[in-house]
Amino acid sequence: MPYRTPLVAANWKMHKTRTETSSFLDAFLPVAGERLDGVELVVCPPFTSLDVAVERCSGTSVRVAAQNMHFEHRGAFTGEVSGAMLADQAVDGVILGHSERRQLFGESDQALARKVPAALAAGLTPILCVGETLSEREGDETVQTLRRQLEADLVEVATEDLTEVVIAYEPVWAIGTGRNATVDQASEAIEFIRSLVTGRDAEAAAGMRVLYGGSVTRDNATELLAADAIDGALVGGASLDPEGFAAIAAAAIA
Ligand code: PEP
Repeated sequence: MPYRTPLVAANWKMHKTRTETSSFLDAFLPVAGERLDGVELVVCPPFTSLDVAVERCSGTSVRVAAQNMHFEHRGAFTGEVSGAMLADQAVDGVILGHSERRQLFGESDQALARKVPAALAAGLTPILCVGETLSEREGDETVQTLRRQLEADLVEVATEDLTEVVIAYEPVWAIGTGRNATVDQASEAIEFIRSLVTGRDAEAAAGMRVLYGGSVTRDNATELLAADAIDGALVGGASLDPEGFAAIAAAAIA
């Protein structure tokens, strides 16, 4: 089995001003430099703090990703930001298809089918979020939902680029609820996700990182991140605190 470097990403959502971003990094960067070798660390601030984060993280092992982008390069799309614009700011990656964007802002699989290759073309690492709602899980439709989302969202990605995509399995019922998936639930879904990619290309699937996200905390991270199937975490609420986020990242290399 190929070694996949664990990845732990902080999704700050609509939190942290530029000053707060700086304060977080004042506390986090020294810890990342001293104690977190062996895990790829990513912070995903709001657009307005990206430049501060890029500047502060330059020369460190911490990478910076945005939380959304448009699929077009430029154009009459008021309020939107393109992959080229993010790359121009030396941003490394972008979260795509987060369930809050799908549910609150009408993000569709059709749009994601264009966003994922557009991110790759701009030189950004896409962190593509997929996951079922509570009613889909209770209706035994988890597998169908994951299949529908992944087949649609990755359809335009060339096989040779698949390993560059990071997938985050984020069951909607676990996000921000304090109710994380069990290791078995997360592993089972992630193994299914990997099997879907194997259907396209076994080598790409073996190299692709698949993270778990949904109420990860310093208390449950060790158990979740010790699972063979889980290559890291996308962390929301618990990533706002530098010490808590560092503890979760440390669990990925324990
Ligand atoms: C997220 O927003 O991607 C997330 C996983 O949030 P939380 O960790 O707060 O559940």
